[in-house]
Amino acid sequence: MVVEIISVGTELLMGSILNTNAQHIAKKLAHMGLDSYYQTVVGDNPERLRAALDVAFSRADCVVTTGGLGPTKDDLTKEMLISYFGCTPTEDPEALRRLEERAARRGTPLSTSMRKQATVPSGAIVLQNDNGTAPGVIIERDGRACIMLPGPPKEMIPMFETACSSFLRGKSDKVFISVNLKLYTMAEKGLPVGESPVADRLGSLVDGENPTVATYAKEDGVLVRVTAAAPAPAEARSLLAPVVAAAKDAIGEEYIKYVEED
Ligand code: AMP
Ligand code: MG
Repeated sequence: MVVEIISVGTELLMGSILNTNAQHIAKKLAHMGLDSYYQTVVGDNPERLRAALDVAFSRADCVVTTGGLGPTKDDLTKEMLISYFGCTPTEDPEALRRLEERAARRGTPLSTSMRKQATVPSGAIVLQNDNGTAPGVIIERDGRACIMLPGPPKEMIPMFETACSSFLRGKSDKVFISVNLKLYTMAEKGLPVGESPVADRLGSLVDGENPTVATYAKEDGVLVRVTAAAPAPAEARSLLAPVVAAAKDAIGEEYIKYVEED
């Protein structure tokens, strides 16, 4: 299955906040063996969100959105997706109960804007929010799915872990596991450990397809990432072991600062 991420929020476009949600989700998708080729950032604007959805669904079967599920006027992701999928809005009793309980704890009546968070598309999977107010939603219709998650990372991360990853995992027939070989910098070792001498030493290892071997030039030293895809983690690890050993030999143990599974 091909998955795209749409990060909704004008503050992302303005550069006011960093898009850590997309980074988190992208990393998890890669681990789950789900292909993801594009990410989009769009402001809190209904027309532009609709256009972004059109483009995303022209390339992917599943879109994960973050942001725009809250009580304020600019939070329009869910309303847009309800109309986009042609669903009927309905109130989720558990989400409403949680909102009412929260309002009662604060000694205030449940406002209309707070209550709108309990509105979900009928037939959707509702992801209750244990760390905030807006529930997440999974809509699946006509071979397309959309997973809507709240913006705040402390709400988004556990919701993605508990509910969405179990939905998504069922859509993947493979896992990806990487081993990172982090090398010393030239300054630390006084040795030629730049990206191209390292790639030269790796030779034909970089041509492998499974595992793949890739080099990345980073300010704190070159990173060599060996990645295997397999139906299960144990198989991925046994594919990795000989290639990681060959990469270590080719680079030379003395150049390697540490090795870690990612
Ligand atoms: P929203 O639900 O879109 O109003 O977002 C609520 C808050 O969540 C924002 O003010 C940010 O602090 C945070 N947030 C939203 N989207 C992201 C994102 N993509 N990455 C990191 N934080 C985010
Ligand atoms: Mg917002």
